[in-house]
Amino acid sequence: MDNSDYEILSQLRYNVLSRMRTFVDKNNERFFSEKELLQLYRIEISFLSRNSISRHGLTTNLDKSKKISPTNCMIRLNQKLFEKSYSQYAEFVLFHEYIHCLGNFSHDKKFRQLENLWPRKKQMNIIGRQLTSELQEIKARWAWTCSKCGFVVKRSSRKFRSNYFHKECLGKLKNIPIIHPTSLEH
Ligand SMILES: [Zn+2]
Ligand SMILES: [Zn+2]
Repeated sequence: MDNSDYEILSQLRYNVLSRMRTFVDKNNERFFSEKELLQLYRIEISFLSRNSISRHGLTTNLDKSKKISPTNCMIRLNQKLFEKSYSQYAEFVLFHEYIHCLGNFSHDKKFRQLENLWPRKKQMNIIGRQLTSELQEIKARWAWTCSKCGFVVKRSSRKFRSNYFHKECLGKLKNIPIIHPTSLEH
């Protein structure tokens, strides 16, 4: 990570924590106390490895023998989140990880209730699915192509059986390798 990465991450952290400070219930009680926000502020954030395709963010415990808590965790974020088109979604992903850091391990009802505090939650899910498919697209090595209608499904694994059919038109699927251009060809 270089200096500009640190700047980007600290701006992101600031945006998320500032918003979390504004979340109040109907009695005007805050969902996240100042103490919790300060603890979250101190949590180390870095990037997931470049070839991570399935995760947008990940919270892990530093000391594996103890449960995740604000003082025993670190956050890693997918680098693709720092492309301009994902800047709003990046905040939502960090918010999601922060909820884990506060000791909410599973995506249970309580977790979802907290997560729903984020504005435009539905829109965030849509962007999330878009990011997932974009990440898979990058890694796709094989294209299952329908011999009848030309429909294509991209896959990263070679696993394929000769008797696969396209559900919509019942055409036989063929497995064709995708050749990615090297950077010299751009
Ligand atoms: Zn999660
Ligand atoms: Zn077809």
